[in-house]
Amino acid sequence: MVKSSLRTIQLQVIYKKLLMEKSVIIVGAGMAGLSAGCYARMNGFKTTIFELHTSPGGLCTAWKRKGYTFDISMHLVTGSIKGAHHTMWKELGIIDSIRFHVHDHYAMIDGGDKKLLYSADRKKVQDQMMEISPSDEKRIRKFIKMIFGPDILDAASLKPAELSSFTDKLKVIPKILPLVKYFFTESNNTLQDFATGFSDSFLKDAVRFIADGPGWPMPQYPMIALAGFINSTVIKSGVPLGGSQSVAYKIADLFKKNGGEVKFKSYVTDLIIIDDKVKGIRLKDGSEYFADYIIWAGDGHTLLFDILKGKYIDKRIKKMYEAWTPVKPVVHVMMGVNRDFSDEPHRTIFRPSLVDTVAGEKREWLCMLHHSFDSSMAPEGKSVVEVWYDSDFEYWEKLSGDKEKYKTEKQKIADYTISELEIRYPGFKNQVEVIDVPTPMTYKRYTDNWKGSPDGWYLTNENLTQGDPVHRLPGLDNLFTAGQWTGPYTGTVIAALSGRQAIELISKSEKKEFITNYNRLIE
Ligand SMILES: Cc1cc2nc3c(=O)[nH]c(=O)nc-3n(C[C@H](O)[C@H](O)[C@H](O)COP(=O)(O)OP(=O)(O)OC[C@H]3O[C@@H](n4cnc5c(N)ncnc54)[C@H](O)[C@@H]3O)c2cc1C
Repeated sequence: MVKSSLRTIQLQVIYKKLLMEKSVIIVGAGMAGLSAGCYARMNGFKTTIFELHTSPGGLCTAWKRKGYTFDISMHLVTGSIKGAHHTMWKELGIIDSIRFHVHDHYAMIDGGDKKLLYSADRKKVQDQMMEISPSDEKRIRKFIKMIFGPDILDAASLKPAELSSFTDKLKVIPKILPLVKYFFTESNNTLQDFATGFSDSFLKDAVRFIADGPGWPMPQYPMIALAGFINSTVIKSGVPLGGSQSVAYKIADLFKKNGGEVKFKSYVTDLIIIDDKVKGIRLKDGSEYFADYIIWAGDGHTLLFDILKGKYIDKRIKKMYEAWTPVKPVVHVMMGVNRDFSDEPHRTIFRPSLVDTVAGEKREWLCMLHHSFDSSMAPEGKSVVEVWYDSDFEYWEKLSGDKEKYKTEKQKIADYTISELEIRYPGFKNQVEVIDVPTPMTYKRYTDNWKGSPDGWYLTNENLTQGDPVHRLPGLDNLFTAGQWTGPYTGTVIAALSGRQAIELISKSEKKEFITNYNRLIE
């Protein structure tokens, strides 16, 4: 009798808790959706993520071929070693569970007779540049001062701008002060203009390539974003051993262990909206799911223009999609090679020897990366090597209409790349054991990102100053947005941060304290 009434009370408590627990649906299990999911559980929301694919991670993905792992994202994770975003990665559980490798250099620019290694050692970089072009001394000193100086990212805050109080803003001042001079002198300048000012033609290219390189261009890169570049990209940022997919899997595991649910193969095609309030989602198979809040962490263009038909946008959002430029997609030639590349710089930008076009464009420089610092990526003594080519989405979209032509073009790019690497590394051709060529169409098919973009929007002087992410759509309640389309300067760090911020805003609208750990769930 006593036992049964105790059970009844326990059941009542659970029932009451369930009734009180508000629910969140998240669309997309990329870094933004997973992060939103974790913070939603930390804050006691019943949370389900709907993901079109069969595994979590979105662009943070990898696949195996003959013992090699081809992993495409997270060549560096901002804040994984230290910095303003470190706390968030810790909260998400990856700092204590994943080892990060820290490179001692950013990249090698190899112009044949002239070479520049972007080392983490300030003096080494300056000495190399001075030796290359003593007459550029003034410009070299300015560049070195900027890239090794105060880090612009130190001024970043984890809190959404909408919730920043006067005191929060005051706290950032000491971090902004060392950068103030740059805001006055550099706010309209670009890296490209600065690089052109060098008298030495190799330095013109090598300086630009620090951010705007072959394979991953960054046109109109704001000069001010160079502040602390080596600090933020090398010294404070590591590469996760096991690759970006292992990070995504770890975060997804923690989410599930703490009561979150992920429904895979669930393509969300519509939102259920009543009186300008989002009540739920509809999947491709017609099934419907309802929640108190919906977070859209999938492709932004699909949400705004295909699903919402452009009804819930304002001037700012319109400008993003009309005037900003999406990061150009990439064709990768990924190779498993029976050769140890660990003595080579992990990223080398070099001049090709053969004259050829790749995906319709002549290439003056190539970018090659290897993953030999991570023993989990290839069998012992072997390496994963990749060459990136930035390439227009439309080119591949058109080609993909003809399967044979599409296949032939991929093969042509692979053959060209191997011939080029054979010249650079004699014997390379016969050491290639496996090869794969994902294209912008692969990105589109896999993640549904607009124009196959790997990273949302390019950062420019213009959008840098209007950079607060779009968390909500005007006139539409209960919907929050997260991910790489919500603001410029994304990468995994801002994708994850936007998920965190969406939950902080939801907690605020629930008048609840924002919790950043799972302790309350365990109590
Ligand atoms: C080659 C490459 C290198 C990169 N290098 C780095 C790096 O070094 N450092 C770094 O920080 N970042 C890097 N990035 C960028 C980084 O990977 C992305 O910015 C980040 O992963 C974006 O996360 P997201 O969650 O916003 O979007 P996504 O990863 O695109 O996730 C969106 C998810 O939503 C799902 N989805 C979309 N629509 C729907 C729908 N309708 N229904 C259900 N599910 C849906 C997709 O399948 C996907 O899983 C790189 C990216 C690439 C491709």
